[in-house]
Amino acid sequence: MTRTFDKSREIFAEAENLMPGGVNSPVRAFKAVEQEPIVMEKGHGAIITDVDGNDYIDYVLSWGPLIIGHTHPDVVSAIQRVATTGTSFGASTQIENELAKEVIKRVPSVEMIRMVSSGTEATMSAIRAARGFTGRDKILKFEGSYHGHGDSLLIKAGSGVATLGLPDSPGVPMSIAQNTLTVPYNNLEAVLQVFEKYGEEIAAVIVEPVAGNMGCVPPLPGFLEGLRDVTTKAGTILIFDEVMTGFRVGYHSAQGYYGVTPDLTCLGKVIGGGLPVGAFGGRRDIMEKIAPAGPIYQAGTLSGNPLAMTAGLETIQHLTEDSYKHFEKLGDRLEAGFREAAETYNIPHTVNRAGSMIGYFLTNEKVIDFDTAKTSDLQLFAEYYGLMAQQGVFLPPSQFEGVFVSTAHTEEHIDHTIKAFQNAFKQLKR
Ligand code: PLP
Repeated sequence: MTRTFDKSREIFAEAENLMPGGVNSPVRAFKAVEQEPIVMEKGHGAIITDVDGNDYIDYVLSWGPLIIGHTHPDVVSAIQRVATTGTSFGASTQIENELAKEVIKRVPSVEMIRMVSSGTEATMSAIRAARGFTGRDKILKFEGSYHGHGDSLLIKAGSGVATLGLPDSPGVPMSIAQNTLTVPYNNLEAVLQVFEKYGEEIAAVIVEPVAGNMGCVPPLPGFLEGLRDVTTKAGTILIFDEVMTGFRVGYHSAQGYYGVTPDLTCLGKVIGGGLPVGAFGGRRDIMEKIAPAGPIYQAGTLSGNPLAMTAGLETIQHLTEDSYKHFEKLGDRLEAGFREAAETYNIPHTVNRAGSMIGYFLTNEKVIDFDTAKTSDLQLFAEYYGLMAQQGVFLPPSQFEGVFVSTAHTEEHIDHTIKAFQNAFKQLKR
C-alpha cells in the first residue's frame, strides 16, 4: 500500500512561514533527496512513527545519539525522576561528576573534561584551548569533514591539494578562513607538505577519526598514526572530533578502536542520550589552562544540565562490550545485504563500515575522501531514498551521511531492510 504524507505536508507548509526553510537544521528539509520532508511524532526502540501514522525502522537515530533506541524506559524514567527535583541550577551538581567519571574511564585521551551543550560548542572550545595553549593561530582540517558550524571550521578547500581555506558560508570572514588550512582526508602526504611549510604556526589538527560527514569513510591504515606522529613532532595539538564516533565506533570510542590517542577529544551525540550535550576533554596540562583553572575562557548557562547529564549517563551505562558485538553483527549483515542486492541488479555501489557506522555510496569507486565520495550518483540516490521510505525504512536524507544501528535493532529489522534494498534496486534497474 502506498504511504501518504498529507499531515506532514500540512505541518511543513505552516513551518515554512515560521522558520527559514521550515526547519531548525537544514538537512531536515530533505532537499538533497528532492522529497517532501517527513514530520515525525514518536519513537519507541528502533521504530519511529510520522504524523500520518507511517512506521519506519529508524537508521538516523537523531543523527547518532539514540544508540540504545528511542524512549528507552530507563532513560525516560531517569529523566522524569530528575525533572521533578530541578531542571537547571547554574551551579554544580553531583550528576556532572558521574558522567565525567564515566567518560574519563572509557575514553583513553580524556583526563579532564568540560561539558557544553552541542558538538559545535565542543569543537569551537577545543580549538580555542589548542590556540590558547600553543599561542599559535592556524589550524588544519580535512576537506568534507564537518565539525559543526563555528566560523573557523565552516571552511572549504581552495583549489590545489593543500590549501588555505575559503569560507563555506556567507558570513564567515575571509580573515578567519585564512587561518584554516585544508587537505584531503586520508592524504598524509598532503598533511606532511603543509607541516613543512607552516608546521610551527599550526595550533591544532582536527580530524574525525572515522569521517562521518561525507558518508562513512574510515581512516586508511597509518593515517591516524601519521597524524599523531607529525603533530607530536611539531608541538601541535591533535584533536579527534568524536562527536559522531564517540561511544559508537567502539566501547572506548574510535581512539580505542584504532589505538591512537589524541591530545584533545570532542564529544556530543551519544553522551547526551538524545538531550543537548557536547563535551571536550583531554590532557590534564591542556585542560588546566581552561577558566577558571587557567586563562582560556569558556562558559555556558546550561552546561552540565542535570537532565542532559542524566540521559547521557543512563545511555552510556547501557553500552557494554556485548552491545558492540551486536552492532558488529547487524552492521555486517546490512553491509552484505546491501552489496548483494546492488550486485543482483547491477547498481553501482561501494560500502564502507566502521562498527555500527555504515556508508553506502552509489558509485563503483573506492571511497577514501570527499572527492571519491562525490562520484556517487546523487540522482539515483534520491530515487532510492524515496523507495526505501515507502517501504518503511528511514535513512539519512543525504548520500553524504552514514547510517546507524542501535541496541534496539533486531535481526528482523535487518531482514526487512535487506528485502527493501532488493525491491528498491529492482525498481531502479536501468
Ligand atoms: N562534529 C561532528 C563530527 C559532527 O558529526 C557534528 C554534527 O553532526 C558536529 C561536530 C556538530 O555537532 P552539533 O550538531 O551537536 O553542533
